[in-house]
Amino acid sequence: MTVSGHRLDPRQPLVVDTHELGRRPGSMRRVTKTVPAPENLGTPVAQVPPGSDIVLDLRLESVMEGVLVTGTAQATLSGECGRCLEPVTDELEVDLQELFVYSDERLRGKPGSGSHNGAGVADEDEEPKMVEDLFDLEPTLRDALVLEMPLTPLCNEDCGGLCAGCGARLDDVEPDHSHELADPRWAALAQLRTSAAGTTEEN
Ligand SMILES: [Zn+2]
Ligand SMILES: [Zn+2]
Repeated sequence: MTVSGHRLDPRQPLVVDTHELGRRPGSMRRVTKTVPAPENLGTPVAQVPPGSDIVLDLRLESVMEGVLVTGTAQATLSGECGRCLEPVTDELEVDLQELFVYSDERLRGKPGSGSHNGAGVADEDEEPKMVEDLFDLEPTLRDALVLEMPLTPLCNEDCGGLCAGCGARLDDVEPDHSHELADPRWAALAQLRTSAAGTTEEN
């Protein structure tokens, strides 16, 4: 019997081999390693740069159903300040916890799983599984990091943002920075004219 087309490649940096851990419940092993960040890890406002270092400190514990993984991941975050648009870099540390169940254990627990019952199949796909002695930490790592990413990254908590009149970064200009024509109605009108002009140019 073969594992249905879902083999894991032990050379992938986020695929962890539990061969040395064994399957005796209670045995433990610590794994620390630095892996390159996978592509497209982040949100529209903050990302872990692809290839940057992610430091993993994991504890693998053999339990009845599979391998329980707990630990931390440290990654570098880069994004844009939500107020002034300056580049922001930050360190992010997240907790990881996941139970990877043995595939054979799973089959035994669900007799007659040959049927194509929609709900049942979806459930199985959600469950992180061991493939032989290997598991893939990537989905767990992604979920944990994305969950902890700031919705609005800031260059600092007190960032003053941008001047509505000229777009200058307010932290970089004199405290009494102001404009003669600060009347918002004029600013709105000027903006309308600019966008109207833009439209005409296109035609
Ligand atoms: Zn800022
Ligand atoms: Zn200004």
